Amino acid sequence: MSNVFVSNHPLIAHKLSLLRSIETEPKKFRELVREIAGLLAYEATLDLETEPVDVSTPLAIAPCKQLKEKIGLVPILRAGLGMTEGVWELMPSAEVWHIGLYRDEKTLKPVEYYNKLPIEPTVSVCLILDPMLATGGSATATIDVLKRWGVKKIKFVGLIGAPEGIALLHKHHPEVPIYLAAIDDHLNEKGYIVPGLGDAGDRQFGTA
Ligand code: URA
Repeated sequence: MSNVFVSNHPLIAHKLSLLRSIETEPKKFRELVREIAGLLAYEATLDLETEPVDVSTPLAIAPCKQLKEKIGLVPILRAGLGMTEGVWELMPSAEVWHIGLYRDEKTLKPVEYYNKLPIEPTVSVCLILDPMLATGGSATATIDVLKRWGVKKIKFVGLIGAPEGIALLHKHHPEVPIYLAAIDDHLNEKGYIVPGLGDAGDRQFGTA
C-alpha cells in the first residue's frame, strides 16, 4: 500500500522486540516507547521543508538550512503521551496539541473528550503520535479534526499497525503517510493487535 512506511532500521527492530516482551517493566517500556518514537520521527521528517540561512561561525559565514515549517505534535491521549518526549527532543520548538479520544468498548468507535485547539491553525505540519494503529478509528478521527483546523500536511507516527487500521486510515485519508515500526497480523475480537504488545497505555502507566 502506498504511503505506508515500515522501518527496517536494526535499532528500531531490536528495541521493538524488547518493547513487545511481557517481561518488560513499565519504566523500561516507557524508555523504549520514547526511543523508538524518536527514531521513527527522524524518518518521518525526511521531507520537511528548509530555508537557506547564513550563519556566522567564529571564522566566516556558513550557508546553512533551517526548518521552514512550524511543527505540531499531536499525541492521542493517553498512550500517545509517551511518544511525545522522544520526538520533542529532536524538534524542541514544536508545539504540542493534545487530542483526547477514547474507544467506546461496545462500538469500538472513537469518542472525542478533549480538544483545546484554537480557531486558527498555528502550525503547518502535524505529526500524530499514537503507538497502536489498531482499528484506525482514533487516528482517522484525529486527522478529521486536524483537517477541519486547517492543517495542510499531516503524518501519522505509530509503533505497531494492524492491517485493519492501516486500511481504514488509508481509505479515509490516502494522502496521509503512515510511519510504523511493524505491521502485525490481525486485530482480536476486543480490538487488540495480535501479536502486538498488549495495552500500550496500561504498560506505560503501570495500570494493567
Ligand atoms: N490499543 C492498545 O494499547 N493495544 C492494542 O493492541 C490495540 C489498541
